[in-house]
Amino acid sequence: MKKLSFLLLLLPLFFSCKKETRTSGTKISADRLIRHVQVLSSDSFLGRQPASPGGRYTSEYIRDQFASMGIVPGNGESYYQEVPMVSITAFDMSPMRLRSGKGTLELSYGSDFVAGSRQVRDAIDIRGSELVFAGFGIVAPEYDWNDYEGLDVKGKTVVVLVNDPGFGPGNEDIFRDEAMTYYGRWSYKYEEAARQGAAAVLIIHEAEPASYGWQVVENSWSGTQLYLFSPDSNRGSLKAEAWISLDAAGRLFAAAGMEGYDFRSEAKKRSFRSFELPVTMDLSFKNRIGTSSSNNVIGLIRGQSRPGEYIVYTAHWDHLGVGKSYDGDSIYNGAVDNATGVAAVLEIGRTFAESQKAPDRSIVLLLVTGEESGLLGSLHYAENPIYPPAQTVANINMDALYPFARWKDVTVVGFGQSEMDDIADTVAQHMGRYVQANPHPEAGYFFRSDHFNFAKIGVPAFYAKGSSEDMEKGKAFGEQVYRYYRDSLYHQVTDEYDPERWNPDGFAAEAEFMYRMGRALAFSDFWPQWKPGSEFRDIREKSRAR
Ligand SMILES: [Zn+2]
Repeated sequence: MKKLSFLLLLLPLFFSCKKETRTSGTKISADRLIRHVQVLSSDSFLGRQPASPGGRYTSEYIRDQFASMGIVPGNGESYYQEVPMVSITAFDMSPMRLRSGKGTLELSYGSDFVAGSRQVRDAIDIRGSELVFAGFGIVAPEYDWNDYEGLDVKGKTVVVLVNDPGFGPGNEDIFRDEAMTYYGRWSYKYEEAARQGAAAVLIIHEAEPASYGWQVVENSWSGTQLYLFSPDSNRGSLKAEAWISLDAAGRLFAAAGMEGYDFRSEAKKRSFRSFELPVTMDLSFKNRIGTSSSNNVIGLIRGQSRPGEYIVYTAHWDHLGVGKSYDGDSIYNGAVDNATGVAAVLEIGRTFAESQKAPDRSIVLLLVTGEESGLLGSLHYAENPIYPPAQTVANINMDALYPFARWKDVTVVGFGQSEMDDIADTVAQHMGRYVQANPHPEAGYFFRSDHFNFAKIGVPAFYAKGSSEDMEKGKAFGEQVYRYYRDSLYHQVTDEYDPERWNPDGFAAEAEFMYRMGRALAFSDFWPQWKPGSEFRDIREKSRAR
């Protein structure tokens, strides 16, 4: 009923723009998009690392673009929202010593475990912390699941599994089957254990349920890490956040007298209860600490009749900066990731700003920092929202649009979560496209870009892009392009603007799609909902009820 009336409401909009959909032309200029990408991904922007000169040039570029388009500052008088950050580099890492009745098991840093802390302290020293095996480390009332039930883990070290109990065969009715829920992400495991008062967490790595190998864990959790810097110096987080390899986990259970314990199949059972292990842990390391800050950049197009209702577009402006050199190139330009998203948000903003009829609702253009370091800018915004979440209608996120094809598909990451899918479906039909679910829901991509921080505060969040079928060249070409990006460009120095391979019209069509999604909401009074069964539905209902 609701859906039908909503679609009827949208009809005039689509009729009014029918002519332009018939022609290949879009409101968004391909030339302008490409120009933004050329600037943002040029070597002089130094890979757009937050808290570096390249980061500053990027914020200034976005700010100046907003100003030149007549888009007003989105944070009071300012285009900036400061994001306080701390960089922490762990060093002098001790081996992880696990003591039990059987003696001391020493795990080696790098090959057996990685660890760090977001607490702003010069040194971390954990001694004699008792180990608890807490299954998946999940408290999820909506799935009637609590791995911490009756457990006191204060000061203890919690050992948990990655992903959630729905992963793997034979558990179709538990959680969301193969599709990873928020509870499956490593970040959730650390957050929940910190809420429970634990000192440390050891996540057992397994390649399949994690969707990446140990190498990725080792690379990502060693070296300098950027975190948000909270006024309490991050004391609310764990003393140590660690991963251990699958092999090391086997030795840990053997030290506890449970050689060959099949922890995954046991922890998946409804009857599973967490338990203490007769093992204690020692771990110490030092931290090199640097504080710095960066900016989210925010522009606003004020709504005409309901300015207090907001549609928030997001794209992260940051990338990896300057790093390891390949063939004499050490600048990680991030043309696809995510100069494309920034360019699209800028041009969507221009289109709204220049349109003859101002939108009913307000449009917020939020270009966030620190995504590559753990979605930091969007997390800071979610914790310090400039516009009330309850008044925020939806979030539309763009991260690494694939500008190599004229996509027929619109592949939605986290398909089935919210009614944003239905809006996408309507828009897609009018553009000769179709909506499909991401074919790899088990990898948890829904939790790996900035829209997720909006979902966490209840705002229906939409993240999608074309990625599998070209309008003319079909699926084989789509597959080829997707692989080319994943294998030859993703997070590499080669992610540069390439006039030979890029398809400017296809790129403009991607931006146009997202523009129309926002326009559909901007001229309606429809409030998209999370679908029943979504883990974010409760949060939204509570937030809107206030
Ligand atoms: Zn990205």
